[in-house]
Amino acid sequence: METIEYLDSRVEHSGTTYSLVRADTEKFLCVRGDAEGFAKLAFQQDDAKYFPLNAHNAAELRKRLEWLNAKPCGLQTSFGYGDRLGLATPGHIQAARGKNIAALFAQQSVRENARTGRTPQQVMDDAMWGVFQCGWRDAWGADADHLKTTQDIAPFIAAGYTFFTVDPGEFVDNDAPTDSRATLEQKANALPWDVLNDSLENLRARYLNQTFALDDLQIQLTDESLLRAIVKYGRAVAHAVTMFQEIARQKNNAAFDFEVSVDETELPTDIAEHFYFANELQRLNVRVTSLAPRFIGRFEKGVDYIGDLDALAENLNQHARIARHFNYKLSLHSGSDKLSVYPLFASATQNLAHVKTAGTSYLEALRTIANVNPKLFREILTQARERYPLDRATYHVSADVERVRAESELSDAQLSELLNEFDAREVLHVTFGSALHEFGNRIHATLRAHENEYADTLQKHFEKHLAPFTKSA
Ligand SMILES: [Zn+2]
Repeated sequence: METIEYLDSRVEHSGTTYSLVRADTEKFLCVRGDAEGFAKLAFQQDDAKYFPLNAHNAAELRKRLEWLNAKPCGLQTSFGYGDRLGLATPGHIQAARGKNIAALFAQQSVRENARTGRTPQQVMDDAMWGVFQCGWRDAWGADADHLKTTQDIAPFIAAGYTFFTVDPGEFVDNDAPTDSRATLEQKANALPWDVLNDSLENLRARYLNQTFALDDLQIQLTDESLLRAIVKYGRAVAHAVTMFQEIARQKNNAAFDFEVSVDETELPTDIAEHFYFANELQRLNVRVTSLAPRFIGRFEKGVDYIGDLDALAENLNQHARIARHFNYKLSLHSGSDKLSVYPLFASATQNLAHVKTAGTSYLEALRTIANVNPKLFREILTQARERYPLDRATYHVSADVERVRAESELSDAQLSELLNEFDAREVLHVTFGSALHEFGNRIHATLRAHENEYADTLQKHFEKHLAPFTKSA
């Protein structure tokens, strides 16, 4: 069998040599030396044994090479790379090298796992094989994204995730800003005070008739604004506490990163509300690593920010001041392609920041396919235009499918231009589940056969994302 070795992967450890090789488009783990414990020998040449990249062999390899295990990244500036196809880590690594930005190469939400049919373990293993292939030795993390219930937690713990993003969005009361006084009082009294280890009377005593000074940001709550804040977020605080305690219990006191995100809720998080939320989490001994408020304006998937950038800059500055006060990172979700926002975000947070991207690596996969397999791209485009009205339902997107040109109007050379257009990006982005369902095998085969093109395309794309956060030494 003709094999090509990935030279960066080759490593000798305790007398055994490991590397990743490719035979045709399939990859194998090559072991020279102690191969005890690896399973399903595929073939053997001289002293080299070749094994498939399955879950068993991934587990055995990470037992031996400790840098293949995900680790918490704490308060270091960090970037999350979602990879729905399980093929993007080498490209992410090409972009991340030398940037001094902690990388979360495994990151998948429960919702994405449902749509892609992948398990937390598969997502972790795919990222790990990429880390191995490229010889990445720096720490890297794994984000269990948008966990909503305590039942969501266990499979991510079992797979070794290190970063837990808890989404208590379903507990946020969006009527709070407009409720009558009587309704607010009634809802406030009904909060889960036992979980909050608190009472309305004690809470009022802690917040009213005083000014919280965070540098030059002054926060004051009136009885009414306090009531609205606790009605809006009180149950979300309680749920975050419950989730934190459950993760800590299942982690057996091992360290982990903990993020709270309310980015997918309807209303922006105001500054006093953010302060209340953070202050309560601190009081309840929740160690927050990062927090994603809902910022003003629109953060749609796979496209730049929609809204007033000056107003956003001020909004980010205020949220960042709270994050610095409580010593956690401010987190930006739906961070793909927000190129006009990153410089503002980096400066507001002074790099005490986390950015999360997901769909944009899929869009770069489509850009690669448009270049190397136009026939397949044409089929994906046609399906996306048909499916968009249905598939957009669970997303915040505003693309008009009428503005996306049909494949019949485009030459092969023009296909990849669609990936630079607002409407086409959103339409192709939110239909990824349908595309994978129909064309998954062909998408994978194309990208495997053109892995360098895909990695180079990702590198170019992510270098633009990372540049604003690169510290000058
Ligand atoms: Zn999010």
